[in-house]
Amino acid sequence: MLLELDDITLRYGRIEALHGLSIHVEEGEIVALIGANGAGKTTTMRAISGLNPLASGKIRFAGKDITTMRADLRVPLGICQSPEGRGVFPGMTVLENLDMGAYTRKDRAGVAADLKRVFELFPRLEERQKQISGTMSGGEQQMLAVGRALMSRPKLLLLDEPSMGLAPMIIQQIFDIIVEINQQGTTVLLVEQNAQQALARAHRGYVLETGRIVKEGTGQDLLHDPAVKEAYLGVA
Ligand code: ATP
Repeated sequence: MLLELDDITLRYGRIEALHGLSIHVEEGEIVALIGANGAGKTTTMRAISGLNPLASGKIRFAGKDITTMRADLRVPLGICQSPEGRGVFPGMTVLENLDMGAYTRKDRAGVAADLKRVFELFPRLEERQKQISGTMSGGEQQMLAVGRALMSRPKLLLLDEPSMGLAPMIIQQIFDIIVEINQQGTTVLLVEQNAQQALARAHRGYVLETGRIVKEGTGQDLLHDPAVKEAYLGVA
């Protein structure tokens, strides 16, 4: 098992956002976490990357207990989050942003090879490598955020709403690239409002409701589950 969240509870002040949540991700999987606004999806991702401390429970990564490990120490272990709302450095060029993704790495040749791979996945980024990131379109910034995350060569890529605010054609491309990244060996945990697209490509999925997992199954099982269809797929 690559990642295991064991009965975790997380509070913002007096508000408990996660109430004893347990999920796991096997190496090589794409796992989708779906749920309505405010269900706790982003909070779960922040717990994994270490941005929010737990009130109780354990997080294990590759057999190691990382529950209390600092966020910056989780990156070299291979955990990388591409944040919701893109989060690129707007004043930096595309290439500078990609270099930032690799800041913990010392293997120059590996970094150069990964930059090549990112440019193959996203030819638009190669064309625009000298452009100031803040002047790029929403879809381009989203590609850059994913590309930057890949530059840290994560074992586990945490993607928070990669389709947010994008046109349907770009969403399709982003999801296709997620599958490609996964086939090249990166495990993916994906948070999505766009449940249809996410479940269609995920090996497994979890449904999160107000800080609790209420359902889990294969992507296909969840796609065909009547309650999931009604609540999250816009099908009555
Ligand atoms: P969305 O799809 O709208 O982004 P989400 O499933 O990612 O939602 P979270 O952002 O994880 O949900 O929020 C879960 C709950 O925790 C919500 O009730 C939210 O209001 C609350 N919450 C999140 N961040 C904070 C914070 N910094 N302080 C207080 N409450 C917070």
